[in-house]
Amino acid sequence: MLHTVGDGPIPMALEALAFAKPNKKYPTYNLIQKVWNKCKYVQQADGYTDYSPLWHNDTYTELAKLQIGGGWKSHGVTHIKHVFRHGRLRPLADLRVEYGLPSSMLFQYMQLQHAVRAQSRSSEWHLSPTPVFSLLGDAVSSKGFISECYAILLQYFLGQHPVMVREKWEKDVGQLDGEQWEEIFQGVSSCSLNVAQRLTQLYIIFRVYYTPRRLQLMGMQTDDVCTRCKRVHGDLIHLLWRCPKLHKYWSEVMSTVNSVFGVSMPVDPRVCLLGVLEEHVEEVYTREAVQRALFQARKLIMIHWKSETPPTLREWIDRMGE
Ligand SMILES: [Zn+2]
Repeated sequence: MLHTVGDGPIPMALEALAFAKPNKKYPTYNLIQKVWNKCKYVQQADGYTDYSPLWHNDTYTELAKLQIGGGWKSHGVTHIKHVFRHGRLRPLADLRVEYGLPSSMLFQYMQLQHAVRAQSRSSEWHLSPTPVFSLLGDAVSSKGFISECYAILLQYFLGQHPVMVREKWEKDVGQLDGEQWEEIFQGVSSCSLNVAQRLTQLYIIFRVYYTPRRLQLMGMQTDDVCTRCKRVHGDLIHLLWRCPKLHKYWSEVMSTVNSVFGVSMPVDPRVCLLGVLEEHVEEVYTREAVQRALFQARKLIMIHWKSETPPTLREWIDRMGE
């Protein structure tokens, strides 16, 4: 499938990376490659796009066989968007006009046509819009850019996994109505100014952590007991909330939050883990401050994930001051 993207050098550079071989020497390079491929996958655009490179692209096996990139490249024909229009290979006459190709390129064109047909088993390609690609292509400044990317990707993600995650949380913390569920996702951006930290909250919501229970189910360890209390099944809700070794921590955190912000919130997993605050804290700025404070409290549990001891109130207070 060929996906449509906006115009611009950023998608072109990212796509060049996406189709390149991983390079162990450069971890940053590999990270960008992974993130971009994940970004495409989330949008269900994990095939070729307008900006997929035509040449030196090992995944485009039929074209790779040709080794005629040189002739085309010297005329600026380097990416799928240069030879395709509306999902079809453009006629040679069009390409000659646009790229000033000599008539001697007819043979190369026929080779290209053959390779494209062999690759796609059809000369027709389906087009679909991909908002993040367009956003990247149209990006003129960094202001609001991350939030927009984030909102688009989240929307895709939710579209794919909406019910399962909610059902699992409701089994653990009780029923959540539509407004509360919406607040949980809106609260992600209030958790922290740091994008990486916001991702941590998303990971919690989407329950991506490897708990002892999950590791046992995956056959990676023999038992599933909680690392801290060593008593029961270490599933997510136990490790974040129900573990007896966390009770003191959560009650001290909540009592501090209530007294510092002048609010009166219950020690409840919906509040502490998911940030359902609207019914307890009316004022928006206070709510955002509480959201950040509670996020740091749960983040500390993540930091102590494999530790036998729970986090302490002191550590949490120290994090607040950072
Ligand atoms: Zn435990």
